[in-house]
Amino acid sequence: MANTPYPQSYYAASASAVPPRPKLQGEVETDVCVIGAGYTGLSSALFLLENGFRVTVLEAARVGFGASGRNGGQIVNSYSRDIDVIERSVGPKQAQLLGEMAFEGGRIIRERVARYQIPCDLKNGGVFAALNSKHMGHLESQKHLWERYGHTQLELLDERRIREVVACDNYIGGLLDMSGGHIHPLNLALGEAAAVESLGGTIHEQSAALRIERGANPVVHTAEGKVRAKFIIVAGNAYLGNLVPELAAKSMPCGTQVITTAPLGDELAKTLLPQDYCVEDCNYLLDYYRLTSDKRLIFGGGVVYGARDPANIEAIIRPKMLKAFPQLKDVKIDYAWTGNFLLTLSRLPQVGRLGDNIYYSQGCSGHGVTYTHLAGKVLAEALRGQAERFDAFADLPHYPFPGGQLLRTPFAALGAWYYGLRDKLGF
Ligand SMILES: Cc1cc2nc3c(=O)[nH]c(=O)nc-3n(C[C@H](O)[C@H](O)[C@H](O)COP(=O)(O)OP(=O)(O)OC[C@H]3O[C@@H](n4cnc5c(N)ncnc54)[C@H](O)[C@@H]3O)c2cc1C
Repeated sequence: MANTPYPQSYYAASASAVPPRPKLQGEVETDVCVIGAGYTGLSSALFLLENGFRVTVLEAARVGFGASGRNGGQIVNSYSRDIDVIERSVGPKQAQLLGEMAFEGGRIIRERVARYQIPCDLKNGGVFAALNSKHMGHLESQKHLWERYGHTQLELLDERRIREVVACDNYIGGLLDMSGGHIHPLNLALGEAAAVESLGGTIHEQSAALRIERGANPVVHTAEGKVRAKFIIVAGNAYLGNLVPELAAKSMPCGTQVITTAPLGDELAKTLLPQDYCVEDCNYLLDYYRLTSDKRLIFGGGVVYGARDPANIEAIIRPKMLKAFPQLKDVKIDYAWTGNFLLTLSRLPQVGRLGDNIYYSQGCSGHGVTYTHLAGKVLAEALRGQAERFDAFADLPHYPFPGGQLLRTPFAALGAWYYGLRDKLGF
């Protein structure tokens, strides 16, 4: 079988050393077999190794091949659904636990970067930008809600203040989270993979899990080998396919696209984002952007339901970038790529256990850089027998997409069209 390379992204082009890891060949025995070397799998592996488990990670392509090595690099705290929606759909104890955990993922990333000395251009500061008064009212109410759960670091920005952090005339205000920020996402994944290996964990690349033999001693089969384990963690997210059919019905892979400009030079970069914060707007189909360490603008936006690869990414995303920053009209785009995230109907993560020994976390529906790091910790806690925080996620209700696997894409696209129209009309 041919090896699967990284997509041609700015991240792959500027990655730290990426040593190829050997394919799994033959039979191995371990405590935990993790399927997928994105943030969910790597974070789980690290927490488990730190707690004395033996871990083998199987990756179908390369470490960080999926969304973890292609994303906007924005450390956005909390979930893809607001805390008040969570409060309304679950009981107060569960909401309390989920609310308390909402900003933990960002702290985990910073601890990992510091402890394992991961070079990933970590910068502090993320802004949610309001395009209209409805957005601003929403940010104000979210700030108050988060404060109820002890997250008091958020700062509202009025129209004057937001102009000081982003040179875009479209915003009327925003919310600054200094516990947010940004990273080179592939280098974070590669650094975490090196940390896994430094603790004695094993990672096999080009080793897709093709079948799981369930039972008291489950076995994961690849093309040329098998892993016998006490526990399995399924962390393949939008790239998992139908390996675990129970999970596929309640989630849907979606694509989102990113472009990267040529280096802008220090002066122009500083006029766009003087404090080097990352920004995402408050639309349902949102735009997100930030500077890289070599002063390019990385700009993402849009969603392709069903995860088809669009033919001309630059043609889709560049107009969005120029709407925010018309001053970039003559700037060349050096890279454009697409990646898949996994959407659930509730936009909350799909977490749980199949039988006694197969655990999973997936479907954080867009904002996953921080959640996936938290997920690794929560999954490791559950394997150690402390399942209270795991259960707070596992008890979230999930429903199949209307239309089943055949019609879920057009139904979801219809829903998105409606929300996109609401974004355009500003309500
Ligand atoms: C373009 C893009 C931009 C984004 N921007 C942001 C952002 O700025 N901020 C934010 O918070 N979130 C963002 N996200 C979402 C975030 O990147 C994801 O939520 C997160 O990275 C998911 O991590 P993961 O480990 O669960 O999945 P992935 O990173 O997708 O990893 C899954 C891995 O499992 C492997 N795999 C799948 N099946 C198998 C198998 N059978 N056997 C072995 N291996 C398998 C895949 O090859 C892959 O490497 C973005 C997503 C995309 C696509």
